[in-house]
Amino acid sequence: MSTPTAQALGRPGGIIRLDPVSLRAKRFAMLTTTTLPLLGTTATAYLLATGNYTRADLGLFAGMYVVHGIGITVGYHRYASHKAFKSGPAFEAFIMIAGSMGAQGPLVWWVATHRRHHRYSDREGDPHSPNLHGRSLTQRLRGLWYAHMPWMLSDQESRWSVFAPDLLSNRRLMYYHRTYAQWVCIGLALPALIGFAAGGTLKAALTGVLFGGLTRIFVANHATWLVASLSHAVGSRPFRNGDRSANNWPVALLTFGEGLQNNHHAFPGSYRHGVTWLEPDLSGWLLAVLGKLGIVTDLREPTKEEIEKKRRQTLEAPPIPPTAGKG
Ligand SMILES: [Zn+2]
Ligand SMILES: [Zn+2]
Repeated sequence: MSTPTAQALGRPGGIIRLDPVSLRAKRFAMLTTTTLPLLGTTATAYLLATGNYTRADLGLFAGMYVVHGIGITVGYHRYASHKAFKSGPAFEAFIMIAGSMGAQGPLVWWVATHRRHHRYSDREGDPHSPNLHGRSLTQRLRGLWYAHMPWMLSDQESRWSVFAPDLLSNRRLMYYHRTYAQWVCIGLALPALIGFAAGGTLKAALTGVLFGGLTRIFVANHATWLVASLSHAVGSRPFRNGDRSANNWPVALLTFGEGLQNNHHAFPGSYRHGVTWLEPDLSGWLLAVLGKLGIVTDLREPTKEEIEKKRRQTLEAPPIPPTAGKG
């Protein structure tokens, strides 16, 4: 995707409107990376229903889902977007490549979009809030759907120089940004190769790419989009963040901790999304272990006092209205 160009929209800041050529390119990329996995998953459903799959296929789905999940949550989100820890070039390469294989967009676009979400969370300017479409049931459902997928087709974009200047000047991270499409393709070729090595037939390679490639992308990315939609609508809210972010455990289980949005919006710089160790935060647990092993360093997390202070502010704050006005 090219750098967004066009006139600034005014307020809220840092948002531009794409010119028609850039908008077409963006929509083509978005529709391709969402439709092909859907078609692949339809084929996988048929194979599952007819018993036409092997244990290697299921293993490829599970293994690639974990790599994909770590790439997006640990790499794109906690490392690149929030700088929640530091990493040397080898582990950084793993999480950046794994994140790119997730087919959720090139790194700088993803980070700029995500940081805009934090800046304008559930207010005008939030790229994917489910809470700006009105208060009736239909409007709320429409908001949930918009925050899940159609927001990706918007003609508005985050200005990279405003939301991700640190990435633009980081040569190593820009390499992964520029080579994004190549890693998406490798993320499809890899399960095909492993499938072929395990089964020795072209059919095994094909089912490998269906299970470990397209279906993995479909399931893992819909799980991620539930973070934007459901985890800003349904769940518990131990902290008042001035938005509708919620801790949704089923989404957190599917997304390695990202569904704990209320905790995350309370402490966005923390490498952990679980405030307690019992909350489902696989990526936080993994990073804690990697920190002990010295693979990652400078893990940031709030102190007990900061958590307590936030809890006290929550008790004193007025309740958040259920949804904002029509947007
Ligand atoms: Zn959020
Ligand atoms: Zn975040």
